Amino acid sequence: MSDGTLEPEALAARAKANGVELWALTDHDEIGGQQRALEAAMGLGLPYLTGCEISVSFAGRVVHIVGLGFDHHDEALLAGLKATRGGRQERAREMAAGLAKVGINEAYEGALQYVSNPELISRTHFARFLVEAGHCSDVSEVFRRYLTEGKPGFVEHRWARLGDAVRWLKQAQGMAVIAHPARYGFTPTEEYALITEFMAHGGRGIEVVTGSHSAADAVKYADTALEFDLLASRGSDFHSPTESHTDLGKLDYLPGRLTPVWQALETRIHQPG
Ligand code: AMP
Ligand code: MN
Repeated sequence: MSDGTLEPEALAARAKANGVELWALTDHDEIGGQQRALEAAMGLGLPYLTGCEISVSFAGRVVHIVGLGFDHHDEALLAGLKATRGGRQERAREMAAGLAKVGINEAYEGALQYVSNPELISRTHFARFLVEAGHCSDVSEVFRRYLTEGKPGFVEHRWARLGDAVRWLKQAQGMAVIAHPARYGFTPTEEYALITEFMAHGGRGIEVVTGSHSAADAVKYADTALEFDLLASRGSDFHSPTESHTDLGKLDYLPGRLTPVWQALETRIHQPG
């Protein structure tokens, strides 16, 4: 329901076919797909946890907080996510203006062609348009050349606050997890601040094995999880069969010395039948 290319039902079927034993759909800043994902999973006999990925501003960067096992009808969580989505359209207009300055015209209209939910126009949609229009050969190249800090299509945006995102999830009976920590490029001091602040607000987990981490990153963040006594999470970051590095259910397992997030979420798992 945000920037993936498959519908929730198709993802559920793909997860099942790939041997996934517990699945969560984690759209960015949106939980409108949860009921469909849950029903599809139950129909396939696939245990399900609700999920999302909240965009948070921290130390001048965007950090993603994965939410798991929350009540997807919780009013405060729904309102918080709606507020977080606000402003994406204006940001997209500014991104298009930046791209026009380097000769890429009508990128807003171009990106819109790939958008299913207008509140959630994202950099991914711009990236798909720039590939289709022949400016770059793949999505990674678009991010590298146009959509990351200092590049013409990058626009700073204020997302949710860390403490708010963690609280919305907790108060909806869910768990907050730091997504793909290796991706932020934080210094050790910034990363320490992120983790300790996150935990002070009640955050409990960290992604260790993810489609956005190398094998070396996974080893490093396994140690981090142990050092801070955080629960470990595993996520594909799968967006599309043609764009993603890793498919559903195809990641390495979590190192056995870690405690997985699902151990603390047992009562929140939807079991089929
Ligand atoms: P936004 O929320 O609009 O800032 O866009 C975030 C989206 O961009 C997420 O789906 C990310 O997975 C994706 N993204 C961020 N960096 C990259 C990258 N270097 N290559 C491909 N996708 C990326
Ligand atoms: Mn995404």
